[in-house]
Amino acid sequence: MIAELICVGTELLMGQVLNTNAYFIAKELAPSGVDMYHQIVVGDNPKRLTEAVETALSRADVVLLSGGLGPTDDDLTKETVAKALGKELVLFDDEWEKLVFWFTSKGRTIAPNNKKQAMFPADAIILPNPNGTAPGCIMEANGKAAVLMPGPPRELQPMFKNHVLPWLLEKAGRRLYSREVRIFGMGESDVTYRLDDLIKNQTNPTIAPYAKTGEVTLRVTARCQNDNEGEALVAPMIETIKSTLGNVVYDTNGRELAEVCHHALIESGKTIAVSESCTGGRLADAFINYPGSSAYFIEGDVTYSNDAKMRRLGVKAETLDNVGAVSEECAREMAEGTRKAAGTDFALSTTGYAGPDGGEPGKPVGTVFIALASKDGTIVKRLNLFGDRDRIRHSAMLNALDLLRRNLCTK
Ligand code: ATP
Ligand code: MG
Repeated sequence: MIAELICVGTELLMGQVLNTNAYFIAKELAPSGVDMYHQIVVGDNPKRLTEAVETALSRADVVLLSGGLGPTDDDLTKETVAKALGKELVLFDDEWEKLVFWFTSKGRTIAPNNKKQAMFPADAIILPNPNGTAPGCIMEANGKAAVLMPGPPRELQPMFKNHVLPWLLEKAGRRLYSREVRIFGMGESDVTYRLDDLIKNQTNPTIAPYAKTGEVTLRVTARCQNDNEGEALVAPMIETIKSTLGNVVYDTNGRELAEVCHHALIESGKTIAVSESCTGGRLADAFINYPGSSAYFIEGDVTYSNDAKMRRLGVKAETLDNVGAVSEECAREMAEGTRKAAGTDFALSTTGYAGPDGGEPGKPVGTVFIALASKDGTIVKRLNLFGDRDRIRHSAMLNALDLLRRNLCTK
């Protein structure tokens, strides 16, 4: 199926407004299997808009239009397109009532020229606009269709995503199938650099990377007729991503790091306890967030003070005197003490400087030590994190989960 886009607005031609609707729609359409070969920008002029619509209809199945659905005289997209398709506009009573309600609920009086916003061809499909007054609509004629959307991006974007795209996909007999590859321990630029060939040559499926605090997600999306075909297209791509990136890939079905640990602990039948300093309970929360965590989560201690670290976990006074609480030794003793006291298979600990003040020579704010104790011994990792207090605490928590995940999932 071929679509063509017409963005209506003299302000676009004058350089007063950047045509972000074209960018948004093109980006949304690209992975959908609906092709777009042309885009037109035309001013608020009925003659030139008619020409644009006729040209677009001559070479596309569906013409998408943005702008000119408002109440003023220069908003003439609907009238012009209806005329080009040989359709009359009639008042839709329920749309008029909604419009009246919209105005009165905001304490405003409705002007007579607003009436045209409730007028559509009798057989039009109405596209609701919860973010403004002008509903969009779809007009179909002679096997072709015109989809009219309002100009303001905050109105157009949800309308396109929620109503137009699903309608287009159904019409094209297409659907999208996607899976999310989740990565921890490698930055977005490094990920995209390593996958450069794959990303450059993507057609179907496509790969869309996005990053959030300390993590990278790749959404792999296939255009397909059904889920089986989608999976067959997506699976080999995901295998290539996994073999290229290695162990930083922690899930290929969009699950969170904590969720992966949660399931791995349940499947392995192993138990865990945690002792936290700088993460202050976030690690315990990450597990307890999932129902069923009582099967493996035994206890969590927030041992923030030196005294609590000694009294509850058995951290040695010499350790705290000699190397301080933010140290490899302290993290190790915390994890080992916790594991012993709780009698668990695993124990995780965190201790570090979350800032904004503090730190010491050689251990600036962002220095965090995490440790994992198990029957095979204790692994301690030094992290050099950055960002504000919240970000450092969040990253420390994720790194501790990742340490556990790498240990659990390779065994
Ligand atoms: P309104 O009811 O607000 O008049 P409308 O559907 O009639 O909406 P226009 O009058 O064409 O839309 O445009 C309204 C505003 O929407 C413009 O001033 C501009 O800020 C924004 N806009 C319109 N078209 C685009 C576009 N292609 N890209 C980005 N912004 C746009
Ligand atoms: Mg307008």
